[in-house]
Amino acid sequence: MSSFIDFDEIKQRVSINQVVQWLDIRLEEVGDQLRGCCPIHKGTNNRDFVVTPDKGLFYCFKCKEGGDLIKLYANVKFIDQKSAAAEILKRIDIGKTARPKGREQASNSAKSSDSKRGNGKLPPLKPLDYLLSEHNNVQALGISQDTAETFGAGFATKGVMRGYIAIPVHDREGTLVAYAGRSPNPSNSTLKFAKGFDPSPIIFNAHRCEPESVVQLAHDPLEILQAYQNGVESNIVAFLTEDISPWQLGQLAVFLDDLKCRL
Ligand SMILES: [Zn+2]
Repeated sequence: MSSFIDFDEIKQRVSINQVVQWLDIRLEEVGDQLRGCCPIHKGTNNRDFVVTPDKGLFYCFKCKEGGDLIKLYANVKFIDQKSAAAEILKRIDIGKTARPKGREQASNSAKSSDSKRGNGKLPPLKPLDYLLSEHNNVQALGISQDTAETFGAGFATKGVMRGYIAIPVHDREGTLVAYAGRSPNPSNSTLKFAKGFDPSPIIFNAHRCEPESVVQLAHDPLEILQAYQNGVESNIVAFLTEDISPWQLGQLAVFLDDLKCRL
């Protein structure tokens, strides 16, 4: 059964920058354009691929092809435009309903990310300086003070992560982009994030992976901290979502490929 999808409506509701971010395309701002390697032909020339956010368009000089955000999504994921539109629509709607429901969110972090978002990279975050690595609630999860300190994690008694063990989340370059809040209750593995933060593109601990290594996929960040205590100091990653989508697995495959790593 085919159903009608309004492409124009999608383009009004989502920006090409958002799609660039979803697809984890790394681009640099050059004037009013974003430039980088083409994610479609997977080239290495960082000037081939251009996004013009004002026009909502992309173009690759090598592929000699361009278009709007729906075509970008379709071409990067090797699906047709109608399927791409359907997936984008699903993401927009998920984004509206499935956000963490915390009321004590930091409004300033939402503001700063709005202004900086756009080049596919999340803005760097300032580390929280009040996290308690020696707190009983950290130990209750089987995490030693040493390990918590190594990762910069700790129990938060205030702020967005209040009442949670806050674990720093980095992008692949090692820039702090968020905190994941783990409940002190060991059986509750649902992670809390600041409002508006989409954890799905993140591969946790990816910045500690070495090229040409065998990488392990852990269940969640806590398992990575526990593994560290048992001598596994790098080359172990996890997703931050409870369900893992095929798209996320695709991102992991691309990441492993980039580093010449394997699972
Ligand atoms: Zn290309």
